[in-house]
Amino acid sequence: MTSSILVTGGAGFIGANFVLEWLARHDEPVVNLDKLTYAGNLDNLAAVANDARHIFVRGDINDRALVERLLAEHQVRAIVHFAAESHVDRSIHGPEDFITTNVNGTFHLLEAARAYLAACPQAQRARFRFVHVSTDEVYGSLGPTDPPFSETTCFAPNSPYSASKAASDHLARAWHHTYGLPVIITHCSNNYGPYQFPEKLIPLMILNALSGRPLPIYGDGRNIRDWLYVTDHCRALMRVLEAGRPGETYNIGGWNEKTNLDVVHALCAILDRLRPEGAPHARLIRFVADRPGHDRRYAIDARKMQRELGWQPDESFDSGLSKTVEWYLAHQDWVARITSGAYRQWVEKHYGTQ
Ligand code: NAD
Repeated sequence: MTSSILVTGGAGFIGANFVLEWLARHDEPVVNLDKLTYAGNLDNLAAVANDARHIFVRGDINDRALVERLLAEHQVRAIVHFAAESHVDRSIHGPEDFITTNVNGTFHLLEAARAYLAACPQAQRARFRFVHVSTDEVYGSLGPTDPPFSETTCFAPNSPYSASKAASDHLARAWHHTYGLPVIITHCSNNYGPYQFPEKLIPLMILNALSGRPLPIYGDGRNIRDWLYVTDHCRALMRVLEAGRPGETYNIGGWNEKTNLDVVHALCAILDRLRPEGAPHARLIRFVADRPGHDRRYAIDARKMQRELGWQPDESFDSGLSKTVEWYLAHQDWVARITSGAYRQWVEKHYGTQ
């Protein structure tokens, strides 16, 4: 029987991009385990809906029996773990789901992998990898002149989201150290690109601008994020899976620090060119009360990825941002299915409520 990889959260933004990239480059099947929360969207995977190498399973990473069954049934040789609650603002208003999925869910996944490997022959165990996909937010906030986060920067998470991710990173690390599970942890900076749920900064601004609604910017708009095009992140994860060393951490970023205000102005300039009838879109910018505990600056030092794994980003911020805007303009149907609730109704009809 051929081996496969298990992707968790593969119907979300980065996970779906990863599944599409994987199937475009490899013959090996992907088992895609996703709970289809509000952020999971099978429309993201329409291009592989009839591809026998894509095995979609609706389920929860907390369901250890299900995970163990999938691992054994599909001879899984690697897990790429994306599944998470991922939105900082939601974590502030309702942190519980973040603990349930990000912390408990990761615990159950690690335990399922450990039980599965214990029953595998040595050769299969030696080849196995568990890639735990995490965020730069676990490192907390940088001052204006601090060096970017490296793999040895201490954790200092400030939001319920980043605290839950940091907790899951510690579990993943401990499962390697204590049980020898071949875990590799990655910390990536902010991603942008196609299929991002329209609650996050870039799609929110594009869609609001297109419909003439205000562009709300937290505080003074000077918070800095380090942006990476999603396909570059997916390629980095494939390199990690291929050549990363178990027990190691790799920071992934685009060397692309921008203030939120700069990002929104750049989006407005692209929209002015592509949709001149709404120009100037920057007139819609509004400053709103800051997010509580809002981190000021994130930046990633990605030299280890380059030095050890030969990875570097392909996409410049300007071209990546233009591609992203063009994607949202060309996929108004995708947006409409989410915003009208039609997609949610489809999920409930086909899978029931969970
Ligand atoms: P997303 O919110 O778009 O997708 C998350 C996916 O996980 C959804 O498909 C959802 O249905 C699924 N899911 C949630 N709870 C689940 C559960 N209990 N069991 C199974 N599936 C579940 O998130 P994203 O932006 O694609 O982020 C993916 C991963 O990458 C997360 O772990 C996040 O912390 C990490 N990350 C994201 C960014 C970013 O900029 N978006 C940057 C660095 C790291």
